[in-house]
Amino acid sequence: MDASQCSVLVVADAQNSDDSLSLLHTTFSSVTFVPTHTDIVGILQAHNRNKDDGSATLVILDDSVFSKVDLFDTLDSLRFALSIGLLQHVAPVVYSSSQSTDYMLECLDHGAVNYILKPLRQDVVTTLFLNTLRESIRQRRKDHHQQSTLGTHAKASPAEANSDSSQGKVWKAFEQRLQSLGDVNHNLIYQSISNFFKSENTISRSDMKKIASDSDLRLKTRLCTWGFAPFDLKNYELLQCAFLVLKHVLALPELNDYSVSDGDLYDFLFDVANMYQPLNPYHNFRHAVDVMQSTFYFLCRIGVLSLMDPQASPAPATTDKHPGCYDWLENDATMKDLITPLDALALVLASIGHDVGHPGVNNMFMIRTATPLALMYNDRSVLESFHAMVFFNILQRHCFRRLTEWQTTAKYTRFRKIVVQSILATDMGMHDDYVNKIQRQRERLDTSPVDVSNNDRAEEEIILICGSLIKCADIGNCARPFPVAKEWAEILQREFFAQGDLERELGLSVLPINDRGKIPLEDFQLGFKKNIAEKLFVAVANVLPDMEFTVDTIESNCTVWESRKQNRCGLKSADEAAACDNHAPKTGASDDHSGQASDQHQVSKNPGETQMHDDPPHATPNQQQPSPTGLCGQKDDSPALNQDQDLSNKPGGRKKKNKLSRHCILQ
Ligand SMILES: [Zn+2]
Repeated sequence: MDASQCSVLVVADAQNSDDSLSLLHTTFSSVTFVPTHTDIVGILQAHNRNKDDGSATLVILDDSVFSKVDLFDTLDSLRFALSIGLLQHVAPVVYSSSQSTDYMLECLDHGAVNYILKPLRQDVVTTLFLNTLRESIRQRRKDHHQQSTLGTHAKASPAEANSDSSQGKVWKAFEQRLQSLGDVNHNLIYQSISNFFKSENTISRSDMKKIASDSDLRLKTRLCTWGFAPFDLKNYELLQCAFLVLKHVLALPELNDYSVSDGDLYDFLFDVANMYQPLNPYHNFRHAVDVMQSTFYFLCRIGVLSLMDPQASPAPATTDKHPGCYDWLENDATMKDLITPLDALALVLASIGHDVGHPGVNNMFMIRTATPLALMYNDRSVLESFHAMVFFNILQRHCFRRLTEWQTTAKYTRFRKIVVQSILATDMGMHDDYVNKIQRQRERLDTSPVDVSNNDRAEEEIILICGSLIKCADIGNCARPFPVAKEWAEILQREFFAQGDLERELGLSVLPINDRGKIPLEDFQLGFKKNIAEKLFVAVANVLPDMEFTVDTIESNCTVWESRKQNRCGLKSADEAAACDNHAPKTGASDDHSGQASDQHQVSKNPGETQMHDDPPHATPNQQQPSPTGLCGQKDDSPALNQDQDLSNKPGGRKKKNKLSRHCILQ
């Protein structure tokens, strides 16, 4: 490549820019000036589409036409677009009169490949194309590495297995076929990612400067409570929450080999955050951080991790033993011995990435409308498969590369299993199957306790437990303190209604749960508790008794929902309220409003109330079946379950009521 194969895009003020920029014409045949506030990524995308010769584009950003924040945002956008393959062979260069070293480094930090001082000189212009060449070489090496991963490892295997003279012959016979497969994989993955996502960032490095100096302590305190309510947090504060949790986990001495710089960790989180759709009412980065906090909190409750805030109250004891001391662990082992720090890191990472790229509609919508993703994944766990694929790619592109690049180690295999299987476990279409697995696990643990030194057995149980924990975290807002849970429920309902609006517009049938005004919020929550949440949380608490607080708080919340339902129906007894279900699907928007009014009445009547509620996050198998009767295709016509009586008859059921567990409500 030489300068003639390189085009230049200059973002500058054409009227007032310095004359030295005209020197560019002496070396480059294509020089285009565009004003600031232009969709630079869009222009470059169009430019890329029109050429297939692999030539490169130099983007010169004259910083005199940008505010500092806008300049960094532009660089961030370009870097993001390059990182996901939306752009290729583009080299951003900052053109400035500032000689501040800090500023120069900041520009490089935001993705500039070079920094040129004004005015432009001929000798500088002559060598400018080398920046694009360097970027192209770097990109080609990266692509080659990714494309040849399969081939490299396939070649290594026979070499390891055989020492005779035929070594490598088997590979040669397969090379072409495997290489083709590698190309298909590469194209499929990168096209999926680049076509799916927007190029605009919702959060950038410059936003992080808004973090107040004392905010870390404040955020840590919030992260260490079960009452975590992220509704008032700005995007950059949410990102800081994720940063603090990951930094805390990565600080474990056992993870020294995987140490990550703060800058690299932020880079990773910027990409994760920006791949969540900010327009989704529910499935956005806020939900991801909420699930991550829940997972982190659960891991603390079962004794695997410690709370990051030394001032935070210790979790109330569930049993007379220390957290994580369970009768199904042999040799006095604890959960900390079973779930390693690397396992915990994998699970916390999976939590922050488990819904990445979520479109705001459920799997059934994706399947009914034959979206490319549904075709790609054969209608099976469509979104979860997509989330797992995209997220693992993000991990590979960032500071977790060492953990996620293919290698013949048990650590890699287990790390990938936990990340991928945990994300797949969040498919609510498989909810009942997963609950059955947990129930069978409890029976297995009764007859065959776990020896943590038995790696195969331990891994089998760990992967199931990690899936259980992320599932509880994913729908865990139903077990949050009531005001928090109620807000999540309302947000989720907005997303369900938006899908219903879309289905109606497309001429598709609309389920009651997606139909505005059809299902009152209380029925929505009570049905979710009965059909979805209760059996999961009970099954998990039977395996992990320290999780029993979630069952207790869900029960408490249901009392509030029942009470609100009675208020809505203007009835006095639970039986009458249950009968009211028969009319629920027929209620219109006005009923919804009256329900809301009764909420306010209830709150004002019980200002100190700290109970929690039920909340349905994802579409469920039952929700996917059109039902004339209401939520989940079933009438909520039974009185509240007396769980103590009911569970005491089940094998391995909860042994005793935890008198202390309600203390967690007050945290
Ligand atoms: Zn989720």
